[in-house]
Amino acid sequence: MGDCIFCKIANGEMDTDLVYEDEKVVAFKDINPQAPVHLLIVPRKHIPTLLDLEKSDEELIGHIYKIASKLAREEGIADRGFRVVSNCNEEGGQTVFHIHFHLLGGRNLQWPPG
Ligand code: 5GP
Ligand code: ZN
Repeated sequence: MGDCIFCKIANGEMDTDLVYEDEKVVAFKDINPQAPVHLLIVPRKHIPTLLDLEKSDEELIGHIYKIASKLAREEGIADRGFRVVSNCNEEGGQTVFHIHFHLLGGRNLQWPPG
């Protein structure tokens, strides 16, 4: 976790504008946006993948979804529709091994994703 990029962003060691922060979570714009709104919601706790979640993390994950809905409203994409997605391991498309939730919206999102 010493060289984890999302730990560094959460700790303020990287120059990243946060759109939201509290004691458990930070949120910021994805550096390579896939939609007009593309935020990443990231727990401050270093958890490598969804497979590493523990029972004690259940409240944290509920909190993240609550923040996702709050940010969707604030970004003006709530009524049109949006997506919250978390990728796991290689074939799931995970490239940063510190769990995070993509909040995507502002265009017609395709399903299923590629
Ligand atoms: P994953 O592929 O793991 O689901 O998502 C990782 C996301 O993090 C990608 O969408 C990528 O663009 C984003 N990302 C990677 N490095 C940085 C960074 O340094 N800053 C920001 N803001 N986003 C990043
Ligand atoms: Zn980390």
